[in-house]
Amino acid sequence: MSSNAVNTGNLVKNEAVRPSNFVRDIILQDLQTGKYNGRVRTRFPPEPNGYLHIGHAKSICLNFGLAIEFGGECNLRFDDTNPCKEETEYVESIIEDVRWLGFDWQDRLFYASDYFDQLYAWAVQLIKQGQAYVCDLTAEQVREYRGTPTEPGRESPYRNRSVDENLDLFERMRAGEFPDGSRTLRSKIDMASPNFNMRDPVMYRILHAEHHRTGDKWCIYPMYDFAHGESDSIEGITHSICTLEFEDHRPLYDWYVEQLGIHHPQQIEFDRLNLTNTVLSKRKLLTLVEKGFVSGWDDPRMPTLSGLRRRGYSPEAIRTFCSRIGVSKTNGIIEHSLLEHCLREDLNQTSARVMAVLDPIRVVIENYPDDQVENMEAINNPEDPNSGTRSVPFSKVLYIEREDFREDPPKQYYRLSPGREVRLRYAYLVTCTGVVKDPATGEIVEVRCQYDPATRGGNTPDGRKVKSTIHWVSAAHALDVEARLYNDLFVSEKGDDENENTDFTSLLNPNSLEVRPSAKIEPSVKDAAPFTRYQFERLGYFCIDKDSTPEKMVVNRTVSLRDTWAKIEKSQKAAV
Ligand code: ATP
Ligand code: MG
Repeated sequence: MSSNAVNTGNLVKNEAVRPSNFVRDIILQDLQTGKYNGRVRTRFPPEPNGYLHIGHAKSICLNFGLAIEFGGECNLRFDDTNPCKEETEYVESIIEDVRWLGFDWQDRLFYASDYFDQLYAWAVQLIKQGQAYVCDLTAEQVREYRGTPTEPGRESPYRNRSVDENLDLFERMRAGEFPDGSRTLRSKIDMASPNFNMRDPVMYRILHAEHHRTGDKWCIYPMYDFAHGESDSIEGITHSICTLEFEDHRPLYDWYVEQLGIHHPQQIEFDRLNLTNTVLSKRKLLTLVEKGFVSGWDDPRMPTLSGLRRRGYSPEAIRTFCSRIGVSKTNGIIEHSLLEHCLREDLNQTSARVMAVLDPIRVVIENYPDDQVENMEAINNPEDPNSGTRSVPFSKVLYIEREDFREDPPKQYYRLSPGREVRLRYAYLVTCTGVVKDPATGEIVEVRCQYDPATRGGNTPDGRKVKSTIHWVSAAHALDVEARLYNDLFVSEKGDDENENTDFTSLLNPNSLEVRPSAKIEPSVKDAAPFTRYQFERLGYFCIDKDSTPEKMVVNRTVSLRDTWAKIEKSQKAAV
């Protein structure tokens, strides 16, 4: 697959060039056999108990991508069956994030809670069919009775209640006669099944809790396994794509729709995305937010879609990444550097170049006229011939990067140092004539230079070569900006270590955020809107933070320029 193809931003085209995978193959086969009359309808079913992350993006791209490719539809459905952890804030953020990623569910936005009446009616149907019963065992007893992987479970003493008694008790559960946890509705399947999920799973629990959409209408709520497949069925979903941990739930999924005699979607499981040096568990991400380890769900270090967006990620880069990682039947862990590689590929094509200095040191051009200002022509984006040029003011006093000057340069250091000539990008060649030091501390506070007026634009009419070109800003014209640089959120590759004994927050990287409070940037970015992306020449890709104001500009470094993934790929190719 050529990288251009996935970069077009044209989803339909992207899908067409995407290599096949087993999920797609199943759909292709179903289309051939006419299993669902040639229809493809998928859904993305988030539970609104947190913000979406890059793992969800994989599922979104897969579900919407397949629907687009096959001329089908993909629904957005909130799986809001647990009233305790769900909030409207999450619903709103999820809607925003899926849209931002570039997908459209048209008028098919659904909520599992809209199906509560139908689900209740189906539960009654299963009771009438002798396939569900009200059980008075406590949660702990249910666990005891369930058995172990090697021993069958024991049947609940309430398993053989009459249909009438079950109907009466279930009705009274709904009416609020019983306290939380005192009874459940269970399906009557097989306590000896080797599959735990089939050992009389709970269908309904009593929970006297307000629901964010149904208010206090209900005090019994359906369990995920009962609600999910039935919601799929109501919506006419053909392929219900979920992650591998639900593989063992598939027999139960199938059992419910079969016993109810309703439309039967095909459940298909794929591998969850794991990424190095971060966590993709909503519970852990919530902990980071609640305990203040990050500034919020959209902290630019978070792997959430809102965090990535604020960091400067483009939706195209995320879609390309999701396409490149593909789907499989075994869980693994993907290198974070691959995500950044996809990001750089996109930003390199699309972002305007500007000059900024993160850690400034003053430079005075001794032989440049005091009040002169020249406008230097700079190329906006060498990758985009239509992007044009802009002018950057040049004057006697400049800032350059502190690390671009050394008083005692080591070997191989070709940037500015006493006696050395370098090119100031788009401006002139300058030669360092000396430094000014703070008499008290000995710290260098100013670098002195002479410029060669014959080298305007950085050209050398006599053909002489300089080894280094450095970036700069004019001191009188530069804007003050706070630059925030980010490193991995977790020091360990496996931030998501499932070992429950280690506190995962102890693996947080103490240096994940570095602030450059006195950075300087060329004036052309003055009115840039939040989320505008740039390449700061030689420093990386940056974007304007959402909280940036003309009074206090803030930028986030999206990603540095060094592409470690490209190196890995190159060495892999060389090894073949
Ligand atoms: P929870 O533990 O709260 O259920 P979840 O991560 O499964 O968390 P959901 O809101 O239920 O979150 O997920 C919505 C959809 O996204 C599901 O179909 C789920 O399988 C998929 N999904 C979630 N995390 C990942 C991931 N890391 N990789 C791929 N798909 C994922
Ligand atoms: Mg889930």
